[in-house]
Amino acid sequence: MQWWRFLDTQNKDVDTVRFLSATAIAPCFAALNCDLFIKKSSFLNVPVLVFAYHRIRGIDSSTLPYERELISATPAQFEEQLKFLTKHYTLTNFINISESIKKDPDYSPKNLVILTFDDGYLDFYTEVFPLLKKFKGTAVVYPSTQYIESDTPIWFDQLGFALDSLQAEQIIEAASQSGLEFLNADRHLVDKNYIFRHVKSISDSARLEFIGSILAVCKRDYGVDASQLKNEMLNWEQIREVFKGGVEIGSHTVSHPILTNVTQTNLAYELTKSKELIEEKTGGKVVSLAYPVGGIETFSEAVIKEVKKAGYEFAVCYLDGVNDAVQPSMYELKRIRVEENQSLSLFRTRLALLSIKRAIKR
Ligand SMILES: [Zn+2]
Repeated sequence: MQWWRFLDTQNKDVDTVRFLSATAIAPCFAALNCDLFIKKSSFLNVPVLVFAYHRIRGIDSSTLPYERELISATPAQFEEQLKFLTKHYTLTNFINISESIKKDPDYSPKNLVILTFDDGYLDFYTEVFPLLKKFKGTAVVYPSTQYIESDTPIWFDQLGFALDSLQAEQIIEAASQSGLEFLNADRHLVDKNYIFRHVKSISDSARLEFIGSILAVCKRDYGVDASQLKNEMLNWEQIREVFKGGVEIGSHTVSHPILTNVTQTNLAYELTKSKELIEEKTGGKVVSLAYPVGGIETFSEAVIKEVKKAGYEFAVCYLDGVNDAVQPSMYELKRIRVEENQSLSLFRTRLALLSIKRAIKR
């Protein structure tokens, strides 16, 4: 199994790719079919490209109460991407790869694409699944099981909604009442992202306590009730239907915590309980995991050890990139992030640039 190697990407490299992608070179790259040239070159080719999506829905609504940055593409943009990918690559998933490896330990994949969808939003069923059927493709969905058939929206949608409803001074006041004090020097930095960075850096119990408190303050003092948001996640019936339709269901844990911040007991619970429940509900095997949030600080050697112990064969993070030809660990797989408003030429350019970067780093 020597066909992917963990590629260490520094942030500055990612920024370079982003910068180049956003300039006028995107249409040129696409017009010259650079990505398709790369695909044909044995030196540049990436055997398995993994893409990371969250939601597929309209993005023109300024009143959308959910986290806007989680909208990866509109249905029309996604259809364009899918049409391009299915024409030039073969769509697969981790279950298929696992079976191929078991049949042939020297299995050497080529020109494969895995589309992954984090969190388990309902739009996978309404927008993505019909298109997968149309293009005869597969994908992987990563639901956090606690939010399936729950009346409560996922924690970051609730927190984001509450903070979006407040002015900076109100955020400072609400956060202070919840135990997060700001130095005068900090105050000008306070915005929604500041609060999100804070909750990702503290222990899981402190995160739950802080979020509970700040949501209560928002409701009491500012009349913002995030619990009134409608939960827009898939239900089990829809999950079973897409699974029967050939979609892999992976795990995104039970409650979407930062796994490096949870206790050892909770770590085992988050990894095993979500896997067991999905297996029970679908009758299929869960082979892959997506780390919640997925940045470099959200998984560690200790977390990976527990992921292996729970029986997962693959784990994906949210580091932007492609995986190299020789891969010692299947538990820190990078993904190409698909984020809002990517034209097809930008989508193809990012694919080309990330593949070139990988070849240069060999
Ligand atoms: Zn997530």
